[in-house]
Amino acid sequence: MDTKIPNILLIYTGGTIGMIKDYKTNALKAFNFKKIKEKIPELNLLDCEIQTISFDLPIDSSNMNPEYWVNIANIIQENYYKMDGFVVLTGTDTMSYTASALSFMFENLNKPIIFTGSQLPIGDLRTDAKENLITAIQIATTQEDNLPLITEVGLYFEYKLYRANRTTKISADHFDAFNSPNFPPLAESGVHLNFNRSLLKKQSNIQKLKVRKKIDDSIVILKLFPGINKKVVQCILEIPDLKGVVLETYGSGNAPTSKWFLDLLKKTVDKKIPVINVTQCIYGSVLMGLYETSNELKKMGVIDGKDITTESAIAKLKYLIGEKVSSSEFGNIFQTSLRGEMS
Ligand code: ASP
Repeated sequence: MDTKIPNILLIYTGGTIGMIKDYKTNALKAFNFKKIKEKIPELNLLDCEIQTISFDLPIDSSNMNPEYWVNIANIIQENYYKMDGFVVLTGTDTMSYTASALSFMFENLNKPIIFTGSQLPIGDLRTDAKENLITAIQIATTQEDNLPLITEVGLYFEYKLYRANRTTKISADHFDAFNSPNFPPLAESGVHLNFNRSLLKKQSNIQKLKVRKKIDDSIVILKLFPGINKKVVQCILEIPDLKGVVLETYGSGNAPTSKWFLDLLKKTVDKKIPVINVTQCIYGSVLMGLYETSNELKKMGVIDGKDITTESAIAKLKYLIGEKVSSSEFGNIFQTSLRGEMS
């Protein structure tokens, strides 16, 4: 069988990875990403063709928003049939949000979209950027029978490839900055690149790629804490034009049973605003009805977020509201795993 060299598109949106230190001033500055191969000559050794596209004005990922998500999606969509895989570089701070969002935006994906970045700039002597970038590209080029092995949105960082919509940033200073608490890594990089094949999404050539770009951002996270008062909860739940709430609860989905709290929540649910119960715990799942403190939530129609991360819940909510899913179907659809984001 003929094998052709894979074409990879490297998309640079910003973040630490694309910075170099100006040794005269000691300040970090963005460098011309077109010259990436000069910075990492090892890229020439990879068995693939690499093309690069950079945002005109690279951003710190704290400034990431749905408009930029659509920009990234457009770049991938325009190049989808020309390329075999995509590597997206963003800052790490909001990478899990962006990568989760892209996972929902690309339906029937059959090619890899691998997010990565770094904790230290590419020009730093001790940088983690080289390994992250080189292996992310290698993963995106991995094929079997001339077809990409990874057909979903992944996040590669510090020797592990994760399903992107399962990840969360856990460290501001360790190289091992991400975790996927409720789902094992899709691949691990050591002497060999080992794929956990039984977990990988399979190629499916039947359905055509759909790129969903209607993202609605009229949502809020309501994080509970002991002593949260009525005024605060009321202000949040009565935000004009609010269309969705991620309710960050305790443990297995528990919340206060005070009447004022339950009444405010019920009023929200009755207005057909979806309220998603997501646990504040890093590991484990919501299990509504296990305790009395979640029973009422279940009864009034709060939606079970199961073991979804907050990042992914935000992305899924914005996506489903953007798609104008009807309120009668919303709960069922949210509680269904659409891209492997929940167990
Ligand atoms: N503040 C940076 C960003 O998220 C940090 C990083 O790149 O890792 O854009």
